[in-house]
Amino acid sequence: MVKKTTIVTCPQCKKEVTWNNDSPYRPFCSERCKLIDLGQWATESYRIPQSESNSEEEPSHQA
Ligand SMILES: [Zn+2]
Repeated sequence: MVKKTTIVTCPQCKKEVTWNNDSPYRPFCSERCKLIDLGQWATESYRIPQSESNSEEEPSHQA
């Protein structure tokens, strides 16, 4: 039985990462890239611009 090797690309630094137990941080190449990506994600979600929906309340909150 031939083991198929899956190669993914690190979303952070675009480095090729082998999808196996040697890469515990996949799809990231390293813990560092994973933390960087998570940090960016957290920052982005924290700073969501509220320019699209003005100060109107969402109609789904109150029927
Ligand atoms: Zn990386």
